[in-house]
Amino acid sequence: MSKEHQVVERARRAFQTGKSKPLEFRLNQLKSLHRFINERRKDIADAVKKDLNKSGNSTELFETLSLEGEINVAVERLTEWAAPRPVEKSLVTIADEVYIRPEPLGVVLIIGAWNYPWVVTLQPLVGAIAAGNAAVVKPSEVSSHSAKLMEELLPLYLHEELYPVVCGGVSETQELLRQRFDHVFYTGNSTVGRLVMEAAARHLTPVTLELGGKSPCYIDKNVDLTVACRRITWGKFVNCGQTCIAPDYILCEPSIQNRLVEEIRKCITEFYTDDPKNFEDYGRIINQRHFQRLMSLLEGSTVAIGGDSDESQCYIAPTVLKDVTGDSKVMQEEIFGPILPIITISGVDEAIQFINDREKPLALYVFSQDNKLIRRVVAETSSGALVANDCLVHFTINALPFGGVGKSGMGQYHGQHSFDQLSHLRACLIKKLNMEAANAMRYPPHTDKKLGW
Ligand code: NAD
Repeated sequence: MSKEHQVVERARRAFQTGKSKPLEFRLNQLKSLHRFINERRKDIADAVKKDLNKSGNSTELFETLSLEGEINVAVERLTEWAAPRPVEKSLVTIADEVYIRPEPLGVVLIIGAWNYPWVVTLQPLVGAIAAGNAAVVKPSEVSSHSAKLMEELLPLYLHEELYPVVCGGVSETQELLRQRFDHVFYTGNSTVGRLVMEAAARHLTPVTLELGGKSPCYIDKNVDLTVACRRITWGKFVNCGQTCIAPDYILCEPSIQNRLVEEIRKCITEFYTDDPKNFEDYGRIINQRHFQRLMSLLEGSTVAIGGDSDESQCYIAPTVLKDVTGDSKVMQEEIFGPILPIITISGVDEAIQFINDREKPLALYVFSQDNKLIRRVVAETSSGALVANDCLVHFTINALPFGGVGKSGMGQYHGQHSFDQLSHLRACLIKKLNMEAANAMRYPPHTDKKLGW
């Protein structure tokens, strides 16, 4: 029996004891997870610094605060989420109890990615614990310092058998995927997403796939370009562009392209100085493989800003490309790095067409002062999320479901959406044995006389 098999078996046995179900236990575990983050924030920041060269404050803003927020909401609202949900009654059920009962699914497998190694791995865990499940946590081996720390420290705070951490790469993850789970929650690229879904299908296990893709950003010519470019520059270059919901490319009319480039240039200097390479708030590409992939995406494009790099440090400057076309190399895959192509189109009609001709994105951004234009983009496109006049911030709103559609993923999480995603919403109908006369019609023989026809 493999190590992974043993871990899953142990988690299942622990789940079967019923220990993870009482609300008090779930709340204690959630509070303990909060304590872990609070007491170990320095260790977490150090690990992320080693993995992605992020500053401590960036990790605080984008990882730990977000996780704490998610835990706080779950602790505050758990009693309400877990309570039976009465549904509307009909004449037939007027005397009955009719309700939905959220129940734990069982053992959940959580497979995390490396770009925000704590948030994308532990935020689903908050939902799994809140919903009363056991969960096997598999952090990404690519962010190895964070993964190792999670493996070392989490068992000191959480029930060891119910919430084990398994470290490892492709072969360990594939061995995990051979086991039977009650739900698989995967964050990462869509190629591996397919493998995860195939493996889960063998056990008829449902999946949540938090994938990526190319998130477009349409900028209307009548917008305040200074404000728009500040928000876009932030959303694109934070974490060196390695953010699943980063604006992947800009669509705009030719008349504003040069002004856009100049505004973005100003913002890059303001945010990261003239020397981003030596500035502590500008990160690095996760590894050489991704560095080389990103550099090759520049081939054949016109660099308007940046473009310089240093392979020995996996450094790529904040880079903007202009006059890019839809068939250029950089437009064939999710960029996932600090490269921002600008594609010019004739207006909103062509922008909508351009977006709809491609896979449904995880996020879609539109910048405009014209409310009608925004509503039109909302109505005529599809994406996991749509944000007007800002980037990324929808991730922080726990009331909004976070997830993709089509090739950008399936299922959603955050706040109650995580709880519902990782619960079985069981239909319950509790009848009494009296009032049998009311059932006469359903029993054979179904004569016209009995049915009153
Ligand atoms: P990654 O390389 O860390 O892979 C993700 C996980 O899959 C890891 O735990 C890894 O061990 C496992 N894995 C890799 N290859 C595997 C295989 N062949 N079989 C089984 N398991 C395997 O991360 P990544 O895929 O490079 O992550 C980046 C992608 O994730 C981007 O596309 C990004 O948009 C997406 N992403 C999405 C979200 C979201 O919430 N939707 C969040 C973060 C990242």
